[in-house]
Amino acid sequence: MENPVAKKLEALLKLQIIDSKLDEIKKVRGDLPVEVQDLEDEIAGYETRISKFKEELTVLNETVSKHKQEIKEAERLTEKYQQQQANVKNNREFEAISKEMELQDLEGQVAKKKIRETLAKIEKKEDAIDDTEKALEERNKDLKNKRRELDIIMSESEEDEDKLLKEREKRSKLIEPRLYRPYSKIRENAQNGLAVVMVKRDACGGCFNIVPPQRQAEIREKKKIIVCEHCGRIFADVEEVVVVEKEKVKKTGIRKKGTEAAGTPKVAAEE
Ligand SMILES: [Zn+2]
Repeated sequence: MENPVAKKLEALLKLQIIDSKLDEIKKVRGDLPVEVQDLEDEIAGYETRISKFKEELTVLNETVSKHKQEIKEAERLTEKYQQQQANVKNNREFEAISKEMELQDLEGQVAKKKIRETLAKIEKKEDAIDDTEKALEERNKDLKNKRRELDIIMSESEEDEDKLLKEREKRSKLIEPRLYRPYSKIRENAQNGLAVVMVKRDACGGCFNIVPPQRQAEIREKKKIIVCEHCGRIFADVEEVVVVEKEKVKKTGIRKKGTEAAGTPKVAAEE
């Protein structure tokens, strides 16, 4: 590790491992924060709808009262006309009062019809309120569950995230800006968030294009920083083929099974 390029590559790879872990935390949280937000919006929508329906219900009830008042008035006038009719002096007066009474009868009928129509509207509105309240209740249950889920995930990963962020701050300071800038840029543009990769089974660990043997040899030498000619990712090293090692282990029986993978950088193995 006296080789300065090797040191730089190691520092970059360590930063990449931290960043990949941070990416993983975000991925686990995934859509939950958005789902919670969506539910909150949906619930707010239902609440607005219910209060609007209730306002409309108040207006409808007022309409019923108004028509009931009209009926009462028509009845009062009819009663008054009946008394007047009992005291009429001639036929013409009788007829005139009869017409007035007919008119009041008609007014009363119209008001009754309007009350029936309004009551039907009220029933529909009340059903709509019931339905919306049921939906609201369901969504509130969903929200409670999602929030609990998110709280658990957050509490599980927040501590790790803080540690990683602190470590990241330390590590990123060790990397010169000349390397840090392209590192950030490549990571930004890469869907898998990988800027530093291993050559794995003769291929780039980021884009899986073949890396020729001559180039692999250069990468191993670490005399300069080499990037993938296809995706521009920085090559940290060439990963030793674990399968071959395993077979060797089986044959020789010197090393215990499972120990050989421990030193293998995880970054390139992720995809
Ligand atoms: Zn590549």
